[in-house]
Amino acid sequence: MFQVTPIPAFNDNYIWLLADGNSNRVAVVDPGDAAPVLNYLKQHDLALATILITHHHQDHTGGVAQLLQAFPVPVYGPGSSPFSGIDHALHDGDSFELFGKVLQIREIPAHTLDHISYYCAPMAQQDTPQLFCGDTLFLAGCGRLFEGTATQLQQAMDYFATLPDATEVYCTHEYSLANLAFAAAVEPDNADIQASTAHCQSLRAKAKPTLPSVIGTEKRINPFMRTRTESIRASASQHAGRTLMEPADIMAAIRQWKNQY
Ligand SMILES: [Zn+2]
Repeated sequence: MFQVTPIPAFNDNYIWLLADGNSNRVAVVDPGDAAPVLNYLKQHDLALATILITHHHQDHTGGVAQLLQAFPVPVYGPGSSPFSGIDHALHDGDSFELFGKVLQIREIPAHTLDHISYYCAPMAQQDTPQLFCGDTLFLAGCGRLFEGTATQLQQAMDYFATLPDATEVYCTHEYSLANLAFAAAVEPDNADIQASTAHCQSLRAKAKPTLPSVIGTEKRINPFMRTRTESIRASASQHAGRTLMEPADIMAAIRQWKNQY
């Protein structure tokens, strides 16, 4: 597993910094802004070795050109991306080695059509699996459907649900409290959502990130990972004013509900 450090950027983005552990080399995920990354590298005497991109949005890619001026490193990212700064194109099922660990690529079109996730499977028994999922999965939420469909988002959530419960989820935005407020509106009787809200509130009161989350928790609190539960089906149907049965229809209804919440 990687040692992972958040570098805050803009209002509520995190640029995740992955350390080698054996050297001063690091990788960054989705550097939307170069300045906070360059400052962090300088302060800690680190050298950028790799850039990973999850999708083309400017707040995930805007810092790449400036970082490359200081560190001419490989840029991994989706092969289908409209972002032109990628020189190591990745596709569904690909894997590659980074600092002695293996990252597995999954195409998860939904928030954008080019979106991919990076999964680091455990190499040893004491390792924790890690997922870098950009703007597709958030703590108790998901990214807006700018380009893809609810069916595609359901497929992405079904993939995340196959990962081990202990998998750490490194999302890119600090949206947790707003997402939990919506999750509680959808499932008012879900005690796990209430517990997670209290936990996240105490972290934010100390100005700490609420991330990473873990997949096992998301399965219990995230309405977008729970479209196959009776609780979410009933709540989405009531809100939509019609009986919904298919997970993708339930997904579309709660995504629409969240957009207006
Ligand atoms: Zn985005």
